[in-house]
Amino acid sequence: MEEYVQRASALGIQEMGFSDHAPAARGYDPAHRMEWEEFPLYQAEIHRLRDLYPGVSLRMGVETDFYPGYEPALRYLLKKYPVEYVIGSVHEMRGVFVFQNNGSEFPGNERIRLIQDYFTLLRKGLETDLVDVVGHLDVIKWLFPEETYAIFEAGSQLLQVMSQTGTVLELNTSGLRKKPGETYPGPLLLQEAVRLGVPVCLGSDAHAPEEVGADFQHALNLLSGLGCTHKKNGKADLMVFSAE
Ligand SMILES: [Zn+2]
Repeated sequence: MEEYVQRASALGIQEMGFSDHAPAARGYDPAHRMEWEEFPLYQAEIHRLRDLYPGVSLRMGVETDFYPGYEPALRYLLKKYPVEYVIGSVHEMRGVFVFQNNGSEFPGNERIRLIQDYFTLLRKGLETDLVDVVGHLDVIKWLFPEETYAIFEAGSQLLQVMSQTGTVLELNTSGLRKKPGETYPGPLLLQEAVRLGVPVCLGSDAHAPEEVGADFQHALNLLSGLGCTHKKNGKADLMVFSAE
């Protein structure tokens, strides 16, 4: 974690959040998240790094999955620890993971159903009011790169909901260094978000220190091209961009 902060500090990033995958109900996808016993260590390390690197405002967040039954576990976590913001995202629908490469093997109507399931899980997550930020909004394009229209349509509907709930959209740059070759969301959904007044924050989805802040200049160019400026007033008091 210290190497991530060092990288942010070297890049001149003034505010940075850790948003590790939240501990989950026992048995859910343990390979991709910390154990409950590890959360106090996570918190303590963020406190230690805050003192060591006062030039970087460090925020303690989590990324939560919307798997069936996630809600009590997340409520418990938020009650027990001072988590400052929650990124909500979907990585799986009915056992189908978004980062699979076999999307073309699904029949067309099943592809559409999975896309609808993906966005329904996100929408239901927003209805709980536990979520401050939607993570990698259209990451399902990894699985179904040919379904651009269905993803745009369902994504736009979710953005409508987000504009009403004040939820922040993450502009996630990890797609630029991976298969889709563009941000999550892509430029068209980003434009729609800005049009609807949805505030946008930056995320590099760093899974290694050298990925902190990756391609942020690309993201900033996209945002400034849409007339966005930077302010600190998003949900959870995050640094956000918007055109208003
Ligand atoms: Zn994620």
